[in-house]
Amino acid sequence: MNQLKSKFLLFFILLFVAYLLAGCTQAPQAHTEFVFGTVCSINLFKQGSDERYQALFMRLRELDAILSANRDDSTIAKINAAAGITPVYAEKEILDILGPALEFAEKSGGRFNPAIGPLVRLWNIGNEGATVPKKSEITNALKIIDWRSIHIDHDLNTVFLEKVGMRLDLGAIAKGYAANEAAKMIHNWGLQRGIIDLGGNILVIGSKEPGKPWHIGIRNPEISGGNSIVSLHVSNISVVTSGVNERFFIEGDKQYHHILDPKTGYPAENELLSVSVLSADSMVADALSTTLFLLGTKKSMSFLAEFPGVDAIFIDKAHAVRVTKGLQGSIQILDPSFHQNY
Ligand code: FAD
Ligand code: MG
Repeated sequence: MNQLKSKFLLFFILLFVAYLLAGCTQAPQAHTEFVFGTVCSINLFKQGSDERYQALFMRLRELDAILSANRDDSTIAKINAAAGITPVYAEKEILDILGPALEFAEKSGGRFNPAIGPLVRLWNIGNEGATVPKKSEITNALKIIDWRSIHIDHDLNTVFLEKVGMRLDLGAIAKGYAANEAAKMIHNWGLQRGIIDLGGNILVIGSKEPGKPWHIGIRNPEISGGNSIVSLHVSNISVVTSGVNERFFIEGDKQYHHILDPKTGYPAENELLSVSVLSADSMVADALSTTLFLLGTKKSMSFLAEFPGVDAIFIDKAHAVRVTKGLQGSIQILDPSFHQNY
């Protein structure tokens, strides 16, 4: 009898060890870190591994160190510190972003403005002590947010800001670039599916399962971290949202958000609460989400004619949800207090 008991015991011990081993050899699921001043997570599902996640987040941290306007040691910081003094050597990543950023500035009549840094710093939205600047301070900042005074020398790989006090801020486009970079690495590994989420800058690779797209939700733009009010099914695309509730402060009875109108120097004032852009290129989606917010719904519809294959979802203060042609009939409104507008 004892023999049988010890065999059973041995069997259960082995079973338990096998279970433990299976547990720790199972691929880790999503990996999340704080980069770019926000929560970034990447999920490669069964194809995820510590090595792959380490490599991806090392690349994101590398980009943060080059592109951040929020650090003193980044290249952007060095370019800003040398404004009006001397050109500064810029890595390929900066040139890869600044070129398109200046094209968006040109096409949007300066609404999208990579030289917006002095105003972003003045408003300090999203940081402790943010307050409405004095009119005179805004007037002074408006004088030096001149994107035409950004000079790129492609032979010497330098960037020069012509006027003292000028500051680059790539907050509206660089996360999209970073998402593209992460997707490139995932494709190079030959992986077919994955989700990249850089503080709401989403890029999905492949489909959830063959023939079954991913299910994406657009949050209620009136509530920070609100529930999804619109849902859609997507594959191989980036979905980037800009809105009034991503970064803001309240002073008196007014809410001040972080998408600044370079014409007035104040947060953009129009009918919109948020714009979500769908594009295969996450950098285009990121820059356009901000640009379309600044243009407003009507002007955006004609502006988007220049971007074939790009779609957008506009949610406004009257709780109307408007979509571009490519999305007609393919969104679902989850919150009855919002309605679709054709
Ligand atoms: P979007 O709508 O995509 O862009 C709004 C942001 O773009 C604003 O926050 C401002 O930065 C800029 N902007 C405002 N108006 C305009 C305009 N008219 N034209 C062009 N740009 C405009 N945040 C932190 O708190 N701490 C950090 O350390 C930090 N590091 C970062 C490093 C990198 C590389 C990047 C890309 C961002 C970082 N951020 C950090 C976040 C950044 O400050 C912005 O708040 C964030 O990128 C806004 O993204 P969004 O998609 O919410 O808004
Ligand atoms: Mg953006």
